[in-house]
Amino acid sequence: MNRKRIPDEVQAEVIFKSNRECVVCDNHKRGDHIHHIDGDNSNNKFENLAFLCFDCHNEASLKGSLKKKLTPKTIIKYRDHKYQIVAAERENSLKVFNAPITGLTTEDLLTTTKNAVVIVEIEKIKEEYFSVDWNKRSDVINKLQKFSNHANFRVAVDVFNFLSFIADQTRGGMTTDVAVSIFSLILDFFPYSDKEGENEKIIELANECINIAFSLTYDSTIYLKNYDIAMYGLTILKFIYKKGKQQNLKELVDRVNETYNEFERTLQRPELDDLADALQLVREFKSDIEEGTLSFPPLSDNLMKLIYSDRQNRK
Ligand SMILES: [Zn+2]
Repeated sequence: MNRKRIPDEVQAEVIFKSNRECVVCDNHKRGDHIHHIDGDNSNNKFENLAFLCFDCHNEASLKGSLKKKLTPKTIIKYRDHKYQIVAAERENSLKVFNAPITGLTTEDLLTTTKNAVVIVEIEKIKEEYFSVDWNKRSDVINKLQKFSNHANFRVAVDVFNFLSFIADQTRGGMTTDVAVSIFSLILDFFPYSDKEGENEKIIELANECINIAFSLTYDSTIYLKNYDIAMYGLTILKFIYKKGKQQNLKELVDRVNETYNEFERTLQRPELDDLADALQLVREFKSDIEEGTLSFPPLSDNLMKLIYSDRQNRK
């Protein structure tokens, strides 16, 4: 069969709309394969694609077996339902950020107006992002930096949503520069607040960052073998972990720990036998998580050598 690469935007759309979760089984298994529903690997239309975990993908690909429960029609039903649920959840989480403002002061009005201007600018940057290739994308997203002095919850939602979309495409050929940009934008735009009433917003944004960290780390170790990108992903996790500790948000500390467990589980998948180094990298970052700074931890010699030689190969 004639396999053509799925275009970046389509791939990102498929993964983002399914929230990186398998659209069929609801046991929180992460998706892994972009499945061609009609069996034609060159038909990369959005409607023909569905994000599936390894098991469901296998089941869907069985030919002529009675056991085949995942027919194209079934998958489409599951998928469309999943897209609805994910969209509804996103909509709900946005409500936390779009609470109606009663009794607007001039200052509030100014902030609201500025937010609107910044959000429109972010839309323009998004468009530009998709019109260039990976090598130029870091320059494009760095343009967001100039709005960081206007970082607040509402702006952060839009910026992190965009970064999440970008991170969902990691497997499509992300460069280390783009990962660096994502990392620094998260640090710049994560709003500081110690008001108890804003905890819910902090958790929502932090969860988005954890998803970004997951995509960067998972895709770069499994598909790209670019451990530099993985290290930025793991450092984003550390940043959220520290936030959780500083602000007494146990939920965040727990989610970071869960994410580490998930990495360890997926990197021990029997059908992928070349992930020992990735697993070691993840474990070395994990044991460093209580350390104060966000610089990379000192790594074992074998990992350093590997990372160094990978860098040379990419040049
Ligand atoms: Zn599944």
